[in-house]
Amino acid sequence: MGIKTAPAITPSNPHICIIGSLNIDFVTSTPRCPGPGETLTATSLTVTAGGKGGNQAVAAGRASFISKEEHDVSVSMIGAVGADDVYYTSLLKPGLENSGVSTTDIGESTEAQTGSASIIVEDAAGGENRILVVPGANHAGIMNDVTQIVAAVKSQKTSPAVVVLQGEIPRKTTLGLLEYFNGGLAAKDRAHVVFNPAPVFPEGISLAALKNTSVLIMNETEAVQMSRSIAGLPVSEGQSTELNYLQPEDLAPRFHEVAHVQIVLITLGAKGVYFSTRSGRAGSVEGVKVAKVVDTTAAGDTFVGYFSTALARFIATGAALEAFDREIEDAVKKANAAAAKCVQRRGAMQSIPFAYDME
Ligand code: ADP
Repeated sequence: MGIKTAPAITPSNPHICIIGSLNIDFVTSTPRCPGPGETLTATSLTVTAGGKGGNQAVAAGRASFISKEEHDVSVSMIGAVGADDVYYTSLLKPGLENSGVSTTDIGESTEAQTGSASIIVEDAAGGENRILVVPGANHAGIMNDVTQIVAAVKSQKTSPAVVVLQGEIPRKTTLGLLEYFNGGLAAKDRAHVVFNPAPVFPEGISLAALKNTSVLIMNETEAVQMSRSIAGLPVSEGQSTELNYLQPEDLAPRFHEVAHVQIVLITLGAKGVYFSTRSGRAGSVEGVKVAKVVDTTAAGDTFVGYFSTALARFIATGAALEAFDREIEDAVKKANAAAAKCVQRRGAMQSIPFAYDME
């Protein structure tokens, strides 16, 4: 399975830098949830590596493995974990490095523990999840400091062609990084930003930060919430009604017109993906029919990572982003196929396929 050590950032390869969350998922399966004051014997506990940032880094890394020995894109991760954390050294770090992700810039926080998600899967409720997330180190130290993160990016061997961001680190940091890499703060350090606003910040996002984002990837709920946010409306109020009548083709143009986003991708679960570009290309890619859906955790992250790798390869050719219109459908199809493979396996990081395992 994969390689044993992470390759360093190879200067001749395009570079993707993922800035985001790292979590440990504690998944307890139980026949039913205990009531207040009750102790119950559960069925099992599984501890796995996750967090949207980590999952997307693993997906981008695995997407770059054209064979078991060769990878054509360098992937690095910037994030934070608790100091001397045994789960980091035994699960997260090997999970990332076995997928070719450089972990050199993952910091250790003395203020907080590694982020965690405690997930209770209740068998009696048809496997329904109850999830408690503790951001921990994802919201501590360097993760509150845009200047320090930018310095870490600049200290890397090559400038990233693509920077990937999600919504699991502080909002203020995310807005600062978006503005920086989208060219608002330092045009010379502009990078192509892939932004996956998951979860959407309850306070929404500022238009100044979102402006000129290269790629915005959202599921249907996030697309409605983000469109409310850029219109200056509360993120969640009334969104469930809007979900019933707003179609992806209604939503996508808002991001092109108002926020000048070049590529909008709306993932539609089993139905696949809708894509649209500011230069006028749009369409849908159907979901891949799978025999059995085992666990959809990290499906969206697999899509984001695979798409980012395709984008980085294209950017490395020196062509303008608008020219990616010619290849976008193919990139969406491949990312959609990888995400479909992910839903047939249990867990987060471990369910993400390597490119050499895809046809
Ligand atoms: P998220 O997991 O972020 O909410 P989605 O549910 O839209 O996002 O799923 C992301 C992608 O994963 C989809 O666009 C699709 O490619 C794939 N996917 C999700 N569920 C299924 C499914 N049941 N069958 C096949 N592919 C799926």
